[in-house]
Amino acid sequence: MTTFEREPGRLFIGGQWREAADGARTEVVDPSRGTVVTTVAEAGPADVDAAVRAAREAHDDGAWSGLSGRERGRVLHRVAQLIRENADEIAALESLDVGKPITLCGAVDVTNAANDYEYFANLAQSQDGALRDTPMNALAYTKREPLGVVAAITPFNFPLILAGSKIGPALAAGNTVVHKPADETPLSALYMARLFQQAGVPDGVVNVVTGTGPVAGEALLRHRGVDKVAFTGSTAIGRHVASVAGEALKPVTMELGGNAAHIVFEDADLEKAVGAVIKGFVFNTGQFCMGGPRLLVARSVYPTLLGILAEAVPGVPVGDPRDPATVVGPMAAEKHLRKVEEYVALARKEGARIVCGGERLDLDGGYYYKPTVIADLSNDSRVVQEEIFGPVLTVQPFDDEDEAVALANSTPYGLASGVQTTNLARAHRVADRLQAGIVWVNDWAMLDPAMPFGGVKDSGYGREYGPEALAGYTKVKSVVVSLD
Ligand code: NAD
Repeated sequence: MTTFEREPGRLFIGGQWREAADGARTEVVDPSRGTVVTTVAEAGPADVDAAVRAAREAHDDGAWSGLSGRERGRVLHRVAQLIRENADEIAALESLDVGKPITLCGAVDVTNAANDYEYFANLAQSQDGALRDTPMNALAYTKREPLGVVAAITPFNFPLILAGSKIGPALAAGNTVVHKPADETPLSALYMARLFQQAGVPDGVVNVVTGTGPVAGEALLRHRGVDKVAFTGSTAIGRHVASVAGEALKPVTMELGGNAAHIVFEDADLEKAVGAVIKGFVFNTGQFCMGGPRLLVARSVYPTLLGILAEAVPGVPVGDPRDPATVVGPMAAEKHLRKVEEYVALARKEGARIVCGGERLDLDGGYYYKPTVIADLSNDSRVVQEEIFGPVLTVQPFDDEDEAVALANSTPYGLASGVQTTNLARAHRVADRLQAGIVWVNDWAMLDPAMPFGGVKDSGYGREYGPEALAGYTKVKSVVVSLD
């Protein structure tokens, strides 16, 4: 029996479970069947206010911010351990909520979430200031202090991991948090609230308000008691969030949309490259900000690679996320499926060639779409330029390295990029020229909490993960002690 079957989702505020002040609830849908599985409380402004007040009180009483980094680290280690102990249940919950294949949930979402909390637990202990050499007759040093109350606003596609990428460093640095998960995928956030409490995180340090973006998200964003906004989501909403936060002079981390190019040079190991290309666009049913939906191929190997993709892609197992053999599950919500259909219809209208896929998969009433490869689109097509966020790959040829780089950098986004080549000098040269927060060479989606993660251009700013993440959750204070 999963958690939501034991108790329906309520808001987690100040260590207490409560209904929304106006009693509102919202439905959670299983995307593999299109059926309602449970409901969760839908927070309004009064609930958000209560959550921010609880977070402020918890911050000010010092029960968390006053601990040493080592003590906070110990609690975060317990969080990681509890995630591992409850791995199967969390994976089942995330799979049901998002439609992710159960195998992927265990191997990626749950495993990475535990690793991430562990990483931040260790980082909590290394938050050192610096002694500065100055000509003053003074002891001059810097120290890092928590910012205060962090609003964490997360998207639907990796609910557990992307909450951890904010809550982990925020807690490591001594902040308190109000988390608003995505409207359509709130379940793992509520599960984690229980685990935080069990791990010994003091009441009020992590609060969870489920609800919609325009109501709960907006109220949280605008709340004067919030000291920082950590946002992951679309570029359109991110722009709004950054402008509201900017007006209030609040620091933000902006992890926004992506539309990465995956470049295959003629000297690539094609067999290896194809595996990375397919992983890059079908992983998480293409609902992956760091996915590689734009394939750029050297003209000399373009027909060969298209032929291999036409054979291999239809063999990718698409189906029920509960089946351990499934690699591609349904889209997380019907609206996301519709968006993919609209882009593929546009590609057809523009005369593109659908190499494979190009249609829904009719299964159990779920929101399935077949992995789709599209060739013969012009680079200025919206299908190439915009973020589709589904299992769709566009394929374009290029003539030389300069053209490959120009095409790769030609969209407004700059989150990730990939290069397939056996030429070492070319690998480094092209990696330098790609406008992206992360570049992979000869694989895709190699991610680790030690490696900073974030975008350039319309993909946002600020970095999650790595020691760089902590800087985003602390403020530096300079102390100068006169020795006269
Ligand atoms: P979204 O922008 O629709 O929603 C993200 C979050 O913002 C949700 O919690 C939503 O409720 C909230 N929100 C909506 N309106 C708001 C408002 N007015 N004020 C405050 N909060 C508001 O994004 P989504 O559809 O959930 O996620 C998909 C997008 O996220 C894609 O563009 C994807 O590329 C991006 N993404 C980026 C990263 C990254 O690390 N850069 C990671 C995952 C997803």
